[in-house]
Amino acid sequence: MNKPKIVILGAGYGGMITASRLTKELGYNEADITLVNKHNYHYQTTWLHEPAAGTLDPEKTRMKISDVLNLNKIHFIKDVVVDIKKDEKKVILEKNNELDYDYLVVALGSEPETFGVPGVFEHAFSKWTVNGARQVRDHIEYQFSIYNNETEKRDELLTFIVAGAGFTGIEFIGELSERVPQLCDSYDVPREKVKMYVIEAAPTALPGFDPELVEYAMNLLESRGVEFKISCPIKEVTEHGVILADGNEIKSETVVWATGVRGNSLIEKAGFENMRGRVKVESDLRAPGHGDIFIIGDCALIINEEINRPYPPTAQIAMQQAAVCASNIKALIHNETTKGFKPDIKGTVASLGGKEAIGIVFDRKLYGSSANFMKKMIDNRYLYMLGGTPLVLKKGKNPL
Ligand code: FAD
Ligand code: NAD
Repeated sequence: MNKPKIVILGAGYGGMITASRLTKELGYNEADITLVNKHNYHYQTTWLHEPAAGTLDPEKTRMKISDVLNLNKIHFIKDVVVDIKKDEKKVILEKNNELDYDYLVVALGSEPETFGVPGVFEHAFSKWTVNGARQVRDHIEYQFSIYNNETEKRDELLTFIVAGAGFTGIEFIGELSERVPQLCDSYDVPREKVKMYVIEAAPTALPGFDPELVEYAMNLLESRGVEFKISCPIKEVTEHGVILADGNEIKSETVVWATGVRGNSLIEKAGFENMRGRVKVESDLRAPGHGDIFIIGDCALIINEEINRPYPPTAQIAMQQAAVCASNIKALIHNETTKGFKPDIKGTVASLGGKEAIGIVFDRKLYGSSANFMKKMIDNRYLYMLGGTPLVLKKGKNPL
């Protein structure tokens, strides 16, 4: 009998854990497993605010796929997925033609959500990838480097705008506000010349998060010079800065876009029924009407029945889904029944730069150095899951 072909698209949190689990759960020669990713490395999206602000070497956030997965057991293809032909059970790749599958795992992550605001892709930084983070870091440093060299001292060179006070925006400004004093020092720029804005449409920063912790974060960031503009949607991004819903303009050469995400556009292109690029998957993580396709991570939508709203797209959920997805594929191969997925949310911790963070873990509120310790332990735990102690030693963070 032919071995079933399992194809995994995307080597982020969902794809890497699915691949790693399948190699452990399936017996030798039970299936052909192929992983496709646009780079030959895996990166940790959850760390990208740090290299983007210049507080962490981007190399720390990525690792070669061949260093962490057993490529004797998985066939890895470095390529870009351009389409999924679900009726023909084929994946179309940019360079390597096409791939057939018996089981497909779609773990292609997300894309920036603009909510139709014009100018984002032309004038703002919105790519939360390794190369996107490097570009933001280099651009920020360049603004400092040219400020004193231009005849006219333009304030917009030193005005930094973050669009959205969700966790991504808050974590990024936390890092940037921590780095600004060093940049001022290095480039002979008076500290008071630097303006940092976080602009949020909702009536609070971190909507839905614990108000006491939100206040802690805002007070800390304000003490570092960050100015919040709350209940203040951005209407347009232009080459000169942003236009707010009230018509006011803030001039800036640097707008970092963090107003949320939608699922990978290939979901829409492939014709899956979706909401903002996310497929409302069955309880066992398969796409409705497609018993051979699993969709996990930021491309999947699952509802939190307690509040009747979707769970936010997080790495925590992507990894948990990956484990269930791998075990369900094994069940199907063995003609057994699949199991349902229910997220087990252990908490949320967000870094604020330096040794500061906020979080709720197992219903306990944490802030300051204890939250920072927890955040770094969470980061290291993922490395341990993927590559054991050697990977923690190579790429891990010092929690103290
Ligand atoms: P990803 O991890 O994004 O992986 C998708 C993979 O698919 C990537 O490797 C990409 O290169 C590849 N890919 C995409 N398109 C193609 C294509 N066409 N062809 C081939 N390959 C392709 N969540 C938390 O739980 N905790 C946190 O602390 C946290 N912090 C975050 C901080 C930041 C700055 C950001 C931006 C997000 C953070 N998140 C956090 C959210 C979390 O990163 C995502 O929910 C998570 O990465 C989703 O995992 P995924 O496997 O679906 O996609
Ligand atoms: P988000 O959706 O959580 O937050 C985006 C924010 O942008 C919202 O507060 C929204 O009101 C605001 N916004 C939307 N349109 C706007 C506009 N036009 N002008 C101004 N503000 C606008 O998105 P995110 O922060 O990118 O996070 C994406 C996902 O990643 C979420 O699920 C989040 O929980 C997760 N994440 C988690 C962590 C962590 O756990 N530490 C860190 C980063 C991201």
